[in-house]
Formats: sequence, C-alpha cells, structure tokens
Amino acid sequence: MKGVRYPAAQRLAYVRLLNGLLEQLILSLPQNFVDLVEQMVLTGLRQGSHVRDLERSIKDKLAIAKQKAQLIARDQVSKYSGDLTKHHQTYAGIKQYTWQTSRDERARPEHRVLDGQVFDWDKPPVSEKNCERFHPRQGYRCRCDAIPVVGR
Ligand SMILES: [Zn+2]
Repeated sequence: MKGVRYPAAQRLAYVRLLNGLLEQLILSLPQNFVDLVEQMVLTGLRQGSHVRDLERSIKDKLAIAKQKAQLIARDQVSKYSGDLTKHHQTYAGIKQYTWQTSRDERARPEHRVLDGQVFDWDKPPVSEKNCERFHPRQGYRCRCDAIPVVGR
C-alpha cells in the first residue's frame, strides 16, 4: 500500500489476513471443479465420447477454472487493500486523497481523468462507465492509489 506507512506488527497482521483470504478462495475451487468434472464424465458417458477427448476437455476446463480463481483472488485482494487504505487514512483523520493512476497504458480512461484530482473519503467520485462510484482499488481490477492529503 503506497501513501501510508504502517507499523511492522500491523503490516504482518494484514499479510496474514490477505493470505487467509487467498487460501479461502483457492479452497473454494475444488468442490466446484469436482462437480463440473462429474457432470462432464456423466455427459461424456451418455454421449459415448472417447476417454481421450473427455480428458482433454477436462484439462481445458481446469485451466480456465484456475485462471478464473486467480483473477477473482487478485481482484478481492486489491479491493481489500483499497478498503484498508480508506480505513487507515480516515482513522488517522485524513479526510481527502489525491487519486493517482498506475500511469501506464493499462490505466482505464475513466481513471486517467481522475488522476491528480482531490476527493473526499466521504464521497467516492464517479469512476466507472456505468456511473458507479468508488475509491481507488475498490473497482474491478483497479490499480490506482489514494495519496492522503495532509494539512487541509
Ligand atoms: Zn483505477
């Protein structure tokens, strides 16, 4: 988390929390996947599919499921870090922040417009095409940062 420095003990606690979150997400995958494979095998049997074809399509599905789980995990961790930044800045009495994008070609145009502007923690700006409001990192795959505004 850029912008705010946390004591080492607190940082360790956050890392533990994030790891726990990741673990939960990864553990939630197998049951879904077992169900999916079971369904594929039953369908394959009913349709008389070749075992090798079935194996290939299960492997493809596994790759997709893994990718999806990774995307979800990454997004949840990012959202969580956004929530923590808000929590700690407002707890420290900071009322406003400067929106800062990752300043690379992957930053979405809606967020490039917000870059360098000051916002209240009380009132997230419109930051999505669908007029949704959120603070940095609280939106899908957002990699922006909230730089605390001090002394206002
Ligand atoms: Zn962003």
